[in-house]
Amino acid sequence: MALTPAADLGPATGLSCRECGHTRELGPHYACEECFGPLEISYDFGNITRADIEAGPRNIWRYRGLLPVPGDIADTPNTEPGLTRLVRADQLAESLGLERLWVKDDSGNPTHSFKDRVVAVALAAARELGFKVLACPSTGNLANAVAAAAARAGIRSAVFVPADLEAQKIITTAVYGGTFVTVDGNYDDVNRLASEIAGEQEDWAFVNVNVRPYYAEGSKTLGYEIIEQLGWRLPDQIVVPVASGSQLTKIDKAFQEFVKLGLVEDKPYKVFGAQAAGCDPVAAAFKAGYDVFRPVKPKTIAKSLAIGNPADGTYVLDVVRRTGGAVEDVTDEQVVEGIQLLARTEGIFGETAGGVTVGCLKKLVESGQLDPSAETVIINSGDGLKTLDAVAPVAKPSANIKPSLDAFRAANLA
Ligand SMILES: *Cc1c(COP(=O)(O)O)cnc(C)c1O
Repeated sequence: MALTPAADLGPATGLSCRECGHTRELGPHYACEECFGPLEISYDFGNITRADIEAGPRNIWRYRGLLPVPGDIADTPNTEPGLTRLVRADQLAESLGLERLWVKDDSGNPTHSFKDRVVAVALAAARELGFKVLACPSTGNLANAVAAAAARAGIRSAVFVPADLEAQKIITTAVYGGTFVTVDGNYDDVNRLASEIAGEQEDWAFVNVNVRPYYAEGSKTLGYEIIEQLGWRLPDQIVVPVASGSQLTKIDKAFQEFVKLGLVEDKPYKVFGAQAAGCDPVAAAFKAGYDVFRPVKPKTIAKSLAIGNPADGTYVLDVVRRTGGAVEDVTDEQVVEGIQLLARTEGIFGETAGGVTVGCLKKLVESGQLDPSAETVIINSGDGLKTLDAVAPVAKPSANIKPSLDAFRAANLA
């Protein structure tokens, strides 16, 4: 398969290897011909101003000039993700002893997780690259986003997930139609299977496998939005959940691109990663001082982050060490406490990944690794309604009473 002559990938100019720097032309490629390293998009951005961006659509396509997508992408039917709320979180800050804290609430996306961003970019590029089917292996949220985006675009989807996924995420994928397969294995098994299928099915775009270089760029929009919503400023510190590690590395890339383009004033910032203790390959490598991580078999309620062999794990270590951040991990019990803390202090019901991030924020403050007086942003990347089982045992009504004033008085609720 090759680019159609009319293909429009916006400012993208080519692909380059993140390991050896070897470059090649744009196309449906994801591994380096020389060293099998992962490929990344190269660009020629030209002149982009704050005014250009501010005049754009109220979704990720306001940044289309910084993404590998056609110039008219905003006009084709798509899920229009992005520009989610950046919430000033004073009560959560106070309870943790922080001065200035923001929650980037990405549960506000069309299928209620940050995955709508990456899928929208992958779909736009996949069409230009000549693919016909939108596919993925997923830990749940990606399944929702791929099935919905394909339905909206009027193309076929093919989604593969571990069979033990949360019931909510099975239903919220199946409802969109499309081919949907549960696999008896963990995510890493499903991911390997997807690579094998991609080798056979030439016109299937597995968003996070064979069009991964394009897909990954979608995460940059989280970083762009944070800068724009802070009033064109960089935060001092940011805490990001880590599954494959792509989101974290692309937020850093977004910050650097805005600095290079003169859209934001340069200043030092620290990037922190958050994992669950039951799937902590990157946190473990960070703490041990290693440059490479050892893959693990995941066992955690934070299933959206349960990738035991994260594709961008080593790049997360690079970013975190370069910026002076850290990678922390929390137990499942602390994940549930994190979900409750965010809900009770700010009225935001995050999924287990949000609980991981809040839990790690707390631990990072307590251990002195995160500066409580520096402006901090955390990501809530998904919606608690998709992981209800995690909080069901602790989220209960205060009382059950008969419909009488006497019963209310007797229950001591006043
Ligand atoms: C996929 C996902 C992440 C992290 O994604 P990576 O880019 O693979 O690290 C974080 N939170 C949620 C809810 C997700 O679904």
